[in-house]
Amino acid sequence: MSPKRVLLARPHGYCAGVDRAVQAVEKALDVYGPPVYVRKEIVHNRHVVETLKARGAVFVEDNHEVPEGAVVVFSAHGVAPEVHSSAAARALRTIDATCPLVTKVHNEARRFAAEDYDILLIGHQGHEEVVGTTGQAPDRIHVVDGPQDVAGVTVRDPAKVAWLSQTTLSVDETMQAVERLRERFPLLQSPPSDDICYATQNRQQAVKQIAPSCDVVVVVGSGNSSNSLRLREVALGAGARAAYLVDFAHQIDETWLLEADTVGVTAGASVPAGLVEDVLDRLAGHGFTDVSEVAATRETTVFALPQELRADIRRSRTRED
Ligand code: SF4
Repeated sequence: MSPKRVLLARPHGYCAGVDRAVQAVEKALDVYGPPVYVRKEIVHNRHVVETLKARGAVFVEDNHEVPEGAVVVFSAHGVAPEVHSSAAARALRTIDATCPLVTKVHNEARRFAAEDYDILLIGHQGHEEVVGTTGQAPDRIHVVDGPQDVAGVTVRDPAKVAWLSQTTLSVDETMQAVERLRERFPLLQSPPSDDICYATQNRQQAVKQIAPSCDVVVVVGSGNSSNSLRLREVALGAGARAAYLVDFAHQIDETWLLEADTVGVTAGASVPAGLVEDVLDRLAGHGFTDVSEVAATRETTVFALPQELRADIRRSRTRED
């Protein structure tokens, strides 16, 4: 019988921005008590959202669904300035859990817009992060939804054009889009540092390392999670014979494993560790007991909780003392 093994890509799962956003909702529930309103999914993961709902978080699509004066948390994907204004108009107590690396892109967008550039934002049309970033400079930003969109871009002055991107894209596909943009606009300005975040890059790098040796790669993540979807594509592009996205271990179809000797496992940046452990347990139940970790890099990034929440946590501790 051939050996059945699992290659576990590292890093996988939670990034610093997701950890911060999920903790922000948990701490808000501790400090203010339920209900705590959350505008949009705090992160794109079904399990995380359901777990927080069970603790008293109420997920809404927009501020008008939040009672006046209540606490609302903005998701890790970031919001347009008008979302802050509409919250202020309803006297909402806001906790902004926008990932600091998304805020960095917002700042770049505002700076390029202030210098009168047209900004070509590479990203998925309609994705919450893209909507939030576009809102920073709506008159200046054009969304470029992949290399195929480049030909249709129109700008005011081809000599004053800059590109930015969503944080969770495929690194390789984004670079293709940038190359095509540069062919059309040779004076194209780049962001001062990578917009695709460290967590997205590291998870893609790690899955690229395991994929060529894998018959099947299981990506744990939700269907609306951009970085999880990209991991599946990157795995296939890097040589995995098949790759599947699952929210939960029970969604692994036994037939995927029938011809497999080596199964790769990774998880998107919004996936808690327990869901990956469940997948490893299920694979072990099918004889895949030999698990080797393949580490692309070690991550040490940690973000502090939103400032407005830290102040209230301190106050509630003082009251308890
Ligand atoms: S994936 Fe990147 S940008 Fe998104 S929350 Fe995580 S660290 Fe922040």
